Amino acid sequence: MSPEADLHVHTIYSDSTFSPRKVVTTAREVGLSCIAITDHDAVGGVEEAIDYGKKVGIEVIPGVELTAEYNDTEIHILGYFIDYKNPWFLEKLQHLRETRRKRFLQMVEKLKNFNISLDAEKIIRQNPFASIGRLHLAQELYRKGYVSSIKEAFRLYIGEGRPCYVKKERLSPQEAITMIRKLGGISVVAHPYLMGDDNVIPVLVKEGIEGIEVYHSEHPLSAQIRYMSMAQNYNLLITGGSDCHGLGKGKVLLGKVRISYNLVEKLKEYKNARDKT
Ligand code: AMP
Ligand code: ZN
Ligand code: FE
Ligand code: FE
Repeated sequence: MSPEADLHVHTIYSDSTFSPRKVVTTAREVGLSCIAITDHDAVGGVEEAIDYGKKVGIEVIPGVELTAEYNDTEIHILGYFIDYKNPWFLEKLQHLRETRRKRFLQMVEKLKNFNISLDAEKIIRQNPFASIGRLHLAQELYRKGYVSSIKEAFRLYIGEGRPCYVKKERLSPQEAITMIRKLGGISVVAHPYLMGDDNVIPVLVKEGIEGIEVYHSEHPLSAQIRYMSMAQNYNLLITGGSDCHGLGKGKVLLGKVRISYNLVEKLKEYKNARDKT
């Protein structure tokens, strides 16, 4: 079997229920050769996954998922092969997680208008490593019986535009792309289909985005085809991944989206060539 990769995976360092080790073990079970750890605003799980991956023969690429905004559209930007130990970067991430915590408290406050009373500090304590966010909130709403599914929590309360939604701090696309570049990484626009506005893509290209996530759990085939052709038109690298959150969204998605390892080699060749210039 030719080697395959899943380049979009979360851990307990953002909003997955899987530890870095569990991610690696599961990757092995589903027959992947390579994964990338891409937590929101966090890299705390990277080293453990790399080390454990070495032991069991899974290649782990250090990554991150940052949130940016353009004209009110939320844009997720993945960074691959980043220097995940860079001190100013770690400080920046720490700041983003701190603002997430405040925003989490605000959302819990807003839920009170709907007679929903949650113990925000307790949820934060129960997720000590996390980039705390809406998925944790949705899970608590579900556990406590306020909603009948995770999706319903977003639909009724905390989805964008819903009454208890609070924006989190967002970078400009340029900030996110430049940051990843300074870390020696490759920037990739995540799940473009979920942005809901393809006009953002040429803007990102102008800002220096280097790749596009063509394959994703929530991309229908028509979107895959469209983004594949955009990748060719704009000369972008092609990536893909499941966006697995462990059991965080119900079923385990790891390996449900897999790309040929050839695409990983293309990323590496690109980075090597760029590093020489
Ligand atoms: P946050 O970063 O706190 O805004 O939360 C984003 C997290 O919520 C990510 O893991 C998203 O995939 C997840 N999310 C956003 N909308 C939905 C939805 N409608 N159903 C399930 N998960 C969602
Ligand atoms: Zn997430
Ligand atoms: Fe995302
Ligand atoms: Fe993600």
